[in-house]
Amino acid sequence: MSEAADRLAEVQAAMAQAAARAQRRAEDICLIAVSKTHDAAAIRPLIAAGQRHFGENRVQETAAKWPALREETPDIVLHLIGQLQSNKAEDAVALFDAIHSVDRSSLVRALARACEKLGKRPRLFVQVNVGDEAQKGGCPVCDLPALLDEAKAAGLAIEGLMAIPPAAVEPAPYFALLDELAERHGLPLRSMGMSVDYETAAMLGATHVRIGTALFGARG
Ligand SMILES: *Cc1c(COP(=O)(O)O)cnc(C)c1O
Repeated sequence: MSEAADRLAEVQAAMAQAAARAQRRAEDICLIAVSKTHDAAAIRPLIAAGQRHFGENRVQETAAKWPALREETPDIVLHLIGQLQSNKAEDAVALFDAIHSVDRSSLVRALARACEKLGKRPRLFVQVNVGDEAQKGGCPVCDLPALLDEAKAAGLAIEGLMAIPPAAVEPAPYFALLDELAERHGLPLRSMGMSVDYETAAMLGATHVRIGTALFGARG
């Protein structure tokens, strides 16, 4: 087995254990391998090991890297997990199967136009700034109801919420908050948990975890 396959097996085992501790099924948690900054040579061993969901944070990097990989493996599923500029909405809708970073009205409008024009409907998550951090992306918690209403009015089906909790503090309360917000708004999906905290997220209701470092090693 390749080193990548070993790491993937370790993460899957840890996730299955965490899910079991919360009486959840591991199959209900989608593992997204975050491949940002890593090249095709680093990604291929994971694909060979059976991984299909991948996450990227930049439209341009994705456009350069993934079309060729997708030609080799057509059932790849690509997730955009980074901030998206409205003027790149069309490129994003063309490239990605899911967008986790819907966070403002202007982007909702741009995505609605892009989906209409391309006749494509990526799965959508609203990113919520659960820690109320000035420097972080995401919709403020207090603006979430209005943004969800705007998305609905624009014909966009939002299926879940995404969050990145504040660094260096216990993430569990933030995961619990995201779960509660999703529940309150009747949204089935929760994108939460990264390399350092995916087990906690898996226990607290994550349906999608986004894992980079634990699979690929440190980014250069
Ligand atoms: C980079 C990134 C991740 C993966 O982080 P790791 O700590 O490497 O697992 C997850 N989510 C988002 C939004 C990211 O930008």
